[in-house]
Amino acid sequence: MIIKTKKVYYCEFCKKHSLLPLVEHEKHCTGNINRTCRMCAEETGGINLPEMVEKWKKIAEVARKIPKPDPTYVSSCSISGEEQKEMEKLVNVKLVMDDANGCPACSLAIILLAKLAEYPIFIQFDFKKEKNDWWEQINADRNEGECYY
Ligand SMILES: [Zn+2]
Ligand SMILES: [Zn+2]
Repeated sequence: MIIKTKKVYYCEFCKKHSLLPLVEHEKHCTGNINRTCRMCAEETGGINLPEMVEKWKKIAEVARKIPKPDPTYVSSCSISGEEQKEMEKLVNVKLVMDDANGCPACSLAIILLAKLAEYPIFIQFDFKKEKNDWWEQINADRNEGECYY
């Protein structure tokens, strides 16, 4: 029998691990507040992530004071329509995406780092879909400006 011990590399910021070093991954990991964005940094220069995370932490703190819907409650009406509207105004995935200049990876980083996913009803963020839409848009923009004859 041969027993081999292998080194496993763990990302410092998320749950990702690998038998290969994750140096490149960590630079761009959405859990890393000092990340450079692989999706938008080249196109738009990226966003000021630490600033945006601070901003959204504050917003989340205000939203946290509004009573949350009780998941154990059978009826979903444990939060009033008014309270819900108030919360939706505050923690809204569209507003996060605006702050991220529409970049899905930066939006995801804000959501993760400011812990906005505690608001599952209001943060309905489909990273894969947003990512595909983003690349489609970039490719469409590129094709418009270039002609291949
Ligand atoms: Zn990571
Ligand atoms: Zn980005």
